[in-house]
Amino acid sequence: MNENIKYDSVIIGSGPAGLTAAIYNARADIKTMVIAGNHPGGQLTITPMVDNYPGFPNGVGGFKLMMDMQTQVKNFGVEIRQGVVKNVRCQMSNVRSFEVEMESGEILETKSIIVATGAAVKWLGLPKEKELIGHGVSGCATCDGMFFRDKTVAVVGGGDTACEDASFLSKFTKKVYMIHRREEFRASVAEQKKVFENSKIEILWSSEVKEINPSKSTPDPSFDLKEGNKLNSIKIFNNKTNEEKILEIDGLFVAVGYSPATKFLEGLVELRETGQIITGKNEILSTMTNIEGIFAAGDCVNEHHRQAIIAAGQGCLAALEMQSWLNRL
Ligand code: NAP
Repeated sequence: MNENIKYDSVIIGSGPAGLTAAIYNARADIKTMVIAGNHPGGQLTITPMVDNYPGFPNGVGGFKLMMDMQTQVKNFGVEIRQGVVKNVRCQMSNVRSFEVEMESGEILETKSIIVATGAAVKWLGLPKEKELIGHGVSGCATCDGMFFRDKTVAVVGGGDTACEDASFLSKFTKKVYMIHRREEFRASVAEQKKVFENSKIEILWSSEVKEINPSKSTPDPSFDLKEGNKLNSIKIFNNKTNEEKILEIDGLFVAVGYSPATKFLEGLVELRETGQIITGKNEILSTMTNIEGIFAAGDCVNEHHRQAIIAAGQGCLAALEMQSWLNRL
């Protein structure tokens, strides 16, 4: 091994996948740096309550869960640095190493990389949408659906996620509207069938959300979520008839796709058309990418089942596989 390379492992991302990988690296005495991004903790930090992470019988706030994981990592002595990675370069001299270039211009040299950058929900881009996340607007039905028992909700989108979300939400909500901009779904036939056969789901075809309205109309930019302000209604627009109408709903689930944060790897690591990292070509090291020494875990890899517990498990596996790869150098 070349002892001049500063880190054994640089982990890019500080969600459940990245932080779990960091814990396993620390316990194996692997000199590790975590690059946390601009928002340490990732997507879960904006989830008010996580009910499905084992070990928390009364649920746990997403922010608390991630801050506790971060403290656990720090207690093991792992360095966590806030910042965004701009580029990764593979060095091939006498021994393989990587240069991780930060947006700040700093360059970190490492023997291996675990990419755990996650994926961001694609939002509709409407005023008040971001402010109402956790107050009626959600990007994750599996995470937040239970808070809408016996309520009326709407799902936007026409793909597999939207259809699955609508079917899932119909199990405990009073009514589910599905709002789709075209007259046919993109989802698989099986998922569409479940929606069509479900009497609790009403599909609003050729429809687009135009406005998201909170319970108290407070003028921008002093929009305030205190005093119980939450989602109250949406205005939808039929793009065939030009008709507009107000839907009074308690929850709006946005399911129009996800963007994995993998652009900085383009040209180096093999990605799917949708941006997810391709792993698993190596028969033994299932989390390794097409580049030896670069591993990946969590939502930046997975197209389906984006769950914190899955990301954490994959982060563990990526660290263990990376360690066995490193031991062979
Ligand atoms: P998706 O397949 O890309 O579907 C996104 C949906 O949102 C489409 O219906 C699209 O409409 C609509 N949409 C996109 N931008 C919009 C906007 N700005 N406003 C309104 N609507 C908008 O995304 P996904 O459903 O998250 O699925 C992603 C991938 O995961 C897919 O390959 C899917 O098959 C897979 N997946 C599989 C499963 C499963 O197998 N159980 C479950 C979930 C996801 P248009 O159709 O008009 O473009």
